[in-house]
Amino acid sequence: MKRKFYAVGNWKMYKTVREAVSYLEELLPLIEGCEANLFLAVPFTSIASLALEAKQTPVAIGAQNLHEEKEGPFTGEISALMLKEAGAVFVLIGHSERRTLFGETEERIHRKVIRALQDDLQPILCVGESLQEREEGRTEEALKRQITSALQGVPKEEGAQLILAYEPVWAIGTGKTATAEIVQEVHLFCRSLLVHLWGKKVGGSISILYGGSVTPDNVAHLIAQEDVDGVLVGGASLDCLKFAKIGGKLNSRP
Ligand code: PEP
Repeated sequence: MKRKFYAVGNWKMYKTVREAVSYLEELLPLIEGCEANLFLAVPFTSIASLALEAKQTPVAIGAQNLHEEKEGPFTGEISALMLKEAGAVFVLIGHSERRTLFGETEERIHRKVIRALQDDLQPILCVGESLQEREEGRTEEALKRQITSALQGVPKEEGAQLILAYEPVWAIGTGKTATAEIVQEVHLFCRSLLVHLWGKKVGGSISILYGGSVTPDNVAHLIAQEDVDGVLVGGASLDCLKFAKIGGKLNSRP
């Protein structure tokens, strides 16, 4: 089944608006001819300016988080509609930093997925096992729990919008990449869960990305795997040359 390829950059809490705009200006000539979908998950403050600059280009701008309610007295939070109006087209949900540093529960992550789908923001659901879970042989159990709780009750017509990102927590920002064999095995397992939830047609068409210390040097090996449909990149996406190289490598995917 033909699936879309993505290189998604997650800037985390880096870059002011000015820095963000000059990054994009530098990036655009570097990605001419790139066939992958290039997404940048940027700080809230940069979404509007970048979305404007990125119009008619292969780059789409998105957010790193949203609140699960439509609106309300939630000081410091941001809604899906606000993000959409600013020009975001997608949102990361359940990143491991949100889960561990900000105490996001599986219940909230589920509600955020529902909110994003209802308000027409493409959700990129991030899942992954901790080091302890991997060492105890509980990787599949952890992924099954995270995926089924986040997606329970989501009808397949809506589920078809989703992108899944497998990001083993022990590989994020550590320089330790999962081997291509581990990644393929886990992606196959995630795919089986999606097929179980939504059937072969929809489950088989969802793009599954790998994230965890991806660089221009290791990306080719990862995306050569049959069930890897792109990458979610943190640190290396902050450098537009590195991000352009990673996006370009997706062109030569078999
Ligand atoms: C991430 O933040 O989603 C990530 C994968 O980070 P890094 O590429 O730096 O490991």
